[in-house]
Amino acid sequence: MGLIAPLSLDDALDALGAHPDAVVLAGGTDLMVDVNEARHRLVGDETVVAVARVAELRSWTHDPQAATVHLGAGVTYAELERDPLARLLPALAQAARTVGSPQIRNAATIGGNLATCSPAGDGLPVLAALGATVELRGTGGTRHLPVAAFMTGVKQTARQPGELITAVTVPVLDGWQGYAKVGVRNAMVIAIAGACLAVDVPSRSVRLALGSVAPTVVRATSAEAFAEGAVEWSTNAVSDADATTFGGLAAEAARPIDDHRASAAYRRHAVAVLSRRLLRRAFPHRLA
Ligand SMILES: Cc1cc2nc3c(=O)[nH]c(=O)nc-3n(C[C@H](O)[C@H](O)[C@H](O)COP(=O)(O)OP(=O)(O)OC[C@H]3O[C@@H](n4cnc5c(N)ncnc54)[C@H](O)[C@@H]3O)c2cc1C
Repeated sequence: MGLIAPLSLDDALDALGAHPDAVVLAGGTDLMVDVNEARHRLVGDETVVAVARVAELRSWTHDPQAATVHLGAGVTYAELERDPLARLLPALAQAARTVGSPQIRNAATIGGNLATCSPAGDGLPVLAALGATVELRGTGGTRHLPVAAFMTGVKQTARQPGELITAVTVPVLDGWQGYAKVGVRNAMVIAIAGACLAVDVPSRSVRLALGSVAPTVVRATSAEAFAEGAVEWSTNAVSDADATTFGGLAAEAARPIDDHRASAAYRRHAVAVLSRRLLRRAFPHRLA
């Protein structure tokens, strides 16, 4: 196996241009598990492009005018979980804090979470709810895809051979946002169900994205539309009955399966509970 460890983005893109089928290695927290468990064999004429030392991928910028954060693909969960990024993207920070252990979060990157595209990837419901855009670069140029179009199925993405995920641009919303997850324990756990709720007060929009309950992340659009009409925007209030209806509509958007972690019925129930609780946190005052 050949190893290329570029120090600049141009060199990384050149390496991928010369070896379009090369395996990209970022934090290695997904890839090396696959190697250790023999699901991925790094042998023969395979080339690995290790991007962890590419400074452009590890940096991020905030554009207050555009109200966006541009996250390099190599930004780690450890960085996402603390200020100043946590202040700008609080739901992503909450999701980051649920990922693995501190050791995993020091290595694991947002680009790796996107590229793996597991239905249980904790960053993905947040990126979907916030309406993030994925930046891909290759010899053919640069493409920008809404995260919903980037995720095409279970561990399937729109990334083409030779392309590198270089960044993800995340809108900074003006309103409450949060992430919640159900697993078999409180730490080091793969989500049985996850949900991100994000409110944007100026546009009076409520966004809800669900993880681990469909082949890829889904937006619960009927629940979103219901909530936008049901909440009282001036007082930050919602009735218990409407919060429960919201949870039920969210559960209808899920397309879960039975597997070794949970039954489909439990996952649907978990989605209803998580979504109801998130709406209550976003609109804490009670309407009769
Ligand atoms: C013990 C443990 C606990 C975990 N817990 C969680 C958890 O709670 N929640 C969760 O969501 N995940 C969890 N994970 C999975 C993993 O940490 C995340 O998916 C992480 O974001 C992967 O990032 P990485 O940088 O390590 O990716 P890598 O392992 O380096 O790469 C993963 C995949 O992405 C590709 N890739 C990486 N970067 C790019 C890029 N810039 N462009 C194109 N392709 C790229 C690689 O080729 C590979 O196919 C856990 C893993 C372990 C080992």
